[in-house]
Amino acid sequence: MTTTLATLTQWLGLFRDEVIQQQGYLTELDSAIGDADHGSNMARGMTAVMDKVDAEPPAAADELFKKVGMTLVSSVGGASGPLYGTFFLRMGGVAGPATELDAAGLGAALRAGLEGVVHRGKAEAGDKTMVDALSPALDAYDAAVAGGQSIPEAMTAAATAGQEGRDATQDLVARKGRASYLGERSAGHIDPGSASVVMLLEALAKAVASS
Ligand code: ADP
Ligand code: MG
Repeated sequence: MTTTLATLTQWLGLFRDEVIQQQGYLTELDSAIGDADHGSNMARGMTAVMDKVDAEPPAAADELFKKVGMTLVSSVGGASGPLYGTFFLRMGGVAGPATELDAAGLGAALRAGLEGVVHRGKAEAGDKTMVDALSPALDAYDAAVAGGQSIPEAMTAAATAGQEGRDATQDLVARKGRASYLGERSAGHIDPGSASVVMLLEALAKAVASS
């Protein structure tokens, strides 16, 4: 089984819907340890993304992801714009001009996205960033695929691992991004970017399950 371009497009639409619906929650998280704009950043960015995708549907995965990445970089001012933007641009580079991705291909594209985020933001595991949800999620995905599980099963495992990673950011002290300015006082709150990344993973799990 593969993930088609239609499913990838559906994923991004579901992610947009979720960040719009959860805008208040993301902003609440960011108001505790940041500047209260993560919800509006993600909602504005993904709205701009889907307006462009719907107006001119891409013909291949690289075209889709490059459009997503470039739109996020240009429409989101915060740290999350360039980081999410890099994630999708790198995904596009690895996916190439395909119209469907198999389990390994989807995993490779997602991992390239994570590597782009790490390269750009220099965050390590435990720095209390989106990487703390994304990295264990992709490890779980790869392990599930290596164990012979289907894309929907592997993505469900990824989303669960991402949720655990997100919840574990609560106890961490931030060492990257705006929250790091708070030092020890950043502990006791979930990282907003890890929360939006879980929405991204859950949206993909939902899209591949319904395809
Ligand atoms: P800003 O911090 O500029 O206000 P947002 O509020 O939209 O931008 O996004 C904040 C999120 O970005 C954080 O919760 C964190 O997950 C993520 N983030 C910030 N800096 C980094 C970094 N260097 N590496 C990875 N993720 C980061
Ligand atoms: Mg912010």
